[in-house]
Amino acid sequence: MTDWAVLRDVYGSAADVPALLRDAAATADWNAVAWQELWQRLYHQGSVSPASYAALPVLAEIAASRTDVPLDPALFLVAAIIASNDAPSAIDGARGVYAAELAALRPVAEGKIALVRDRADVLWVLEVVAALEDLSPWQRDLDRLANDEVELECPSCGDYIYLELVDGALVATTGPDAVRDGQPVQQAPTSDLGPAEARLVTLSEANGHPDVAREMLQLFGRAGCPHCGTWFPIPDALP
Ligand SMILES: [Zn+2]
Repeated sequence: MTDWAVLRDVYGSAADVPALLRDAAATADWNAVAWQELWQRLYHQGSVSPASYAALPVLAEIAASRTDVPLDPALFLVAAIIASNDAPSAIDGARGVYAAELAALRPVAEGKIALVRDRADVLWVLEVVAALEDLSPWQRDLDRLANDEVELECPSCGDYIYLELVDGALVATTGPDAVRDGQPVQQAPTSDLGPAEARLVTLSEANGHPDVAREMLQLFGRAGCPHCGTWFPIPDALP
């Protein structure tokens, strides 16, 4: 049995976590107090704690019980915790310890893609799939695309580059104010994709989101630095 009173969450004692999990099981509302508290305590700005992992089985059980909820805070919290890389040694262990829970949630997450329409929601759900299937680095970085702006660091000159989404096209710029001078990125050829990237593109196409697939193919492609002119693979320039 988990002794929650001696476990730590991001803020302190995790003694309140079991009660919060019980309350959270009754609602899929992101604004519910229980979910807001759990997100703060178990996953705060990319940080996780021992209590985050201890809560994974309960969170997974909640997520598995409501496959019909398009954007379920329980499923997203499981994904956020397991994708966190703020303590790599603990993460490696966690994927093994919770392998059964994560495996059971993979079809749940994949099923959500058919339940969402909005392109940002599709990208958020794909990031959850990426977390459960360990598709690095997209389990942490696909949401950048959902937010319409991807910040990069040029591998050659080290300057910051901003990829901005303009009418479905990603352009490399020196900043949000310089979109007009931006240079479109080169989309990755589908034949060159790695297994993680191919999986995400296939999933979005199979679920009727060719627009999202096109956006991702651009993200998986190459960009020209607006500062020094060097072309580089975009995944290599993620901060
Ligand atoms: Zn550069």
